Parts: sequence; structure tokens; C-alpha cells
Amino acid sequence: MRLLVTGGAGYVGSVCAARLCEAGHEVVVVDDLSSGHADAVPGGCRFVEAELSDVADSLLAEGFDGVLHFAAKSLVGESMQDPSKYWHGNVVTTLRLLEAMRKHEITRLVFSSTAAVYGQPDTIPIPEDTPAQPTNTYGATKLAMDHAIESYATAHGLAATSLRYFNVAGAYGAYGERHAVETHLIPIVLQVALGQREYVQIFGDDWPTQDGTCVRDYIHVADLADAHLRALELAQPGRHRIYNLGNGTGFSVKQVVDTCRQVTGHPIPARVSPRREGDPASLVASGERARQELNWQPHRAELDTIVRHAWEFAHAHHRD
Ligand code: UDP
Repeated sequence: MRLLVTGGAGYVGSVCAARLCEAGHEVVVVDDLSSGHADAVPGGCRFVEAELSDVADSLLAEGFDGVLHFAAKSLVGESMQDPSKYWHGNVVTTLRLLEAMRKHEITRLVFSSTAAVYGQPDTIPIPEDTPAQPTNTYGATKLAMDHAIESYATAHGLAATSLRYFNVAGAYGAYGERHAVETHLIPIVLQVALGQREYVQIFGDDWPTQDGTCVRDYIHVADLADAHLRALELAQPGRHRIYNLGNGTGFSVKQVVDTCRQVTGHPIPARVSPRREGDPASLVASGERARQELNWQPHRAELDTIVRHAWEFAHAHHRD
């Protein structure tokens, strides 16, 4: 297939673009490099450096079989302080993309949604029919787009999939996580092992969990990418399906820090600090629907594998 990958210079987008190229697809990446890196775009892809909303129409006029839409603003804290950036970056831009797809009759879409749409659900593990009640603007913008895609699928025959990511981590060879401002747990802990931070802050140890720290479902970025390839192949015209992507297993912040200590051999000092605003105690995916309908199985579900790959990548890139 000839595919447009938006945000293909970013973390998840670059890994997916690499996997799509390996699978024999022709890939065009569009990215404005607001948070991605030009050298993260896989070698076999054509790279268009531009803001998606400016070029969606002219690019899609070239003709594509499908779009994988990763380009987005994705920092929860920032979304609360600067909502306009999120409503414009995630909603206005995606609506322009949907319009351009409709105009140029491009019918396949895979969209990066998020577990943040669920807020703090009562049921763990979380199935896809859990009521979506986002507690932050980032999750609200992604949920709005899930709704928009649903109505485009129904009205205009789009074959669409929303993939709700849980905590994506790890790396795929030369492709990994390199954020200018790092907020995610595993890369932050590894920065301590690299000597870039003195210690890791544990945001609260009084949560209603086994060891008092928050529990999350960490999924390897390459497993996540595989689900995109399956979603692309299996999508059917006029249908919008939503899948949670996680391993179905929760790890606490303390367990993550311990695993990082084992993998890196570094003592990694940790200090407990107050809870972070907006954090739910526990988020773990039910992966049943993705397993059944996409026939998708994670192959790198062990936390130490995920951390080891993230560590190899962080080690190789810490001077970039
Ligand atoms: N966390 C932490 N210290 C940090 C960064 C994160 O204790 O320096 C915790 C955070 O409170 C959450 C978990 O680690 O419970 C995962 O956070 P992350 O930001 O990686 O992902 P999120 O679950 O917020 O999408």
C-alpha cells in the first residue's frame, strides 16, 4: 500500500513507519518537527517537513491507500495549561485531514487514541466499552476525534481504527523515545542511570495499590506498531473499531524503578514526592478485543525486555 504517516519523525510514528517499510509498503512521512527529529524518519521513507494542516490537501491529492495519523500534541500537563494548543493541534488539524481524505477518496485510517480518554475508570482491566470520561484536555481532544472518525466512517464509508495506547515504552533498534522535555517514567528513570538526573521522584506512595505507588500497563512500542499493521489490513469500509493496546498486566512505579535498577546495574536513588495532579491510581488494559479481532499478540510483554530496549536506546542517544 502507499501510505501517509503523519508524525513519522516522532517516537511511535517513526517505529511504525519503520515497520511499514519493512513490510513492503511505500511510506511518505509528514512531520513539522515540533517534537520529532528528522533523523528519526526511517531511511526508506520520503519525508515532507511541513505542518499537516497546511499540506493535507495537496499531499493527499497525490493519491494514497491509507493514512496513519500519529501527529499530535500529547503532554497531559501542558494540555491543561494551554488548551488552545491541543484543540487546534489535535482537533482542527485532524478535521482538516479527515476532510482532505474525503475529498481525495482515501478510505483507510488508523488513528492514535489514548487510554487517557477513560479518566479514572472503576473497572480494571479496562474494556473498550468503559464510559469515556477524560480528566484532562489531552484525553478530551483525542476522544472528540474518536467521535468525529466514527461519524465519518458511518456517513462516508471510511474504514477506520482508533488505537487507545496505554503506556508505550521500549525502543525498536535505532528508533526510540527522545523528548526535549521528558515526563514519562521509564526514560526519566534511565536518565538517572545515565547521570543526567540525581534521583527519580515517585509521585505518591499512598495510592490504593499493592505497594502504594501508581500502577500502569507498559507496552513495547514494536508490539504497538504491529497492531497498527493489523488494523490497517483488517479495517472494513463504513466501520470504525476501537481497540485498547496494552499487555493486560500492571506494574507499579516502584516495580518499574526496581526493574530499571536490575537492567542498568545502577542504584537509581528514588524519593517519594506528592501525588501528581490528574494521575489515576491504576490503568490496565483489557486486551481481549485486540486479540480476538486483530489477532494481535504482544511478543515483548516482559517488563525487563521493554526496559532493556529503552536502556540500549537511551545509552546510544544520550549525547544527541
Ligand atoms: N511517575 C513518577 N515519577 C516521574 C514520572 C512518572 O512517579 O518522574 C509516575 C506517574 O505518576 C504515573 C506513572 O509514573 O503513575 C507513569 O507516568 P507516565 O508519565 O510515564 O505516564 P502516564 O501514565 O501519565 O501516561
